[in-house]
Amino acid sequence: MIVLKDQTVKLSGIKPEMVMAAILTHQVFQKYNLDLIITAGTEEFYPDGTQIHMDGSKHPKGEALDYRSSHIPDAVYTKLCSDIVDAVGIEFQLIRHESHLHQELDPK
Ligand SMILES: [Zn+2]
Repeated sequence: MIVLKDQTVKLSGIKPEMVMAAILTHQVFQKYNLDLIITAGTEEFYPDGTQIHMDGSKHPKGEALDYRSSHIPDAVYTKLCSDIVDAVGIEFQLIRHESHLHQELDPK
């Protein structure tokens, strides 16, 4: 399944390329019997008005998604990440953060 972390995740304005990347990424997660949990999309500000992502982030432009990584077993984490990179092709960058995987459109 592809699921949202909660109702704070915004998807409006997400680029079609990112939708395709999420579908391909989901297929990799499925191979490991894991759900793909989207933790961030295009949202820009917390309800209190503070900025969620760094300046210059591709999230507000619809060119980035964050996926939960805490449910990925350590034993398969590296392999899963390289499978994602293989699955989505060279136009996307996958960055491992401590709490999540960040995927963004980075056309070559
Ligand atoms: Zn991100």
